[in-house]
Amino acid sequence: MKAQYTRSQTKIIRVLKSLNDAISAQDLYIELKNRDHPLGLATVYRGLEALKAQGIVKSRTLSSGEALYSLVSHDQHYINCVSCGQSFAINECPIQNLEERLEKTYNFQVYYHTLEFFGRCHQCHAKSVP
Ligand SMILES: [Zn+2]
Ligand SMILES: [Zn+2]
Repeated sequence: MKAQYTRSQTKIIRVLKSLNDAISAQDLYIELKNRDHPLGLATVYRGLEALKAQGIVKSRTLSSGEALYSLVSHDQHYINCVSCGQSFAINECPIQNLEERLEKTYNFQVYYHTLEFFGRCHQCHAKSVP
């Protein structure tokens, strides 16, 4: 089954593919402008939501409330510091087996999953120790 994308969705996918990290809608809007493929901010949001509904794009929400978007094929998890807002990528996914099990048990096609850890990073921890 081949998905049909609108022009703006294709542009969004192209930028997301070229990035190694998740990006906010605002930054994606700037990135598109820098690459001479300007889209309106509302179009960027609409495109991202449409791609999310198709299981192409996933989002994760930072402790600041800002949403970051990336392609679903990019299975990456983070530990997030609630004090300074930094995110650190972790190089493992412990729930890939679970995903397969859910697909079988519930006959459900899993597009993606999110898994986030929140806490305090070592820098902020060191600062708080008298
Ligand atoms: Zn921190
Ligand atoms: Zn994962």
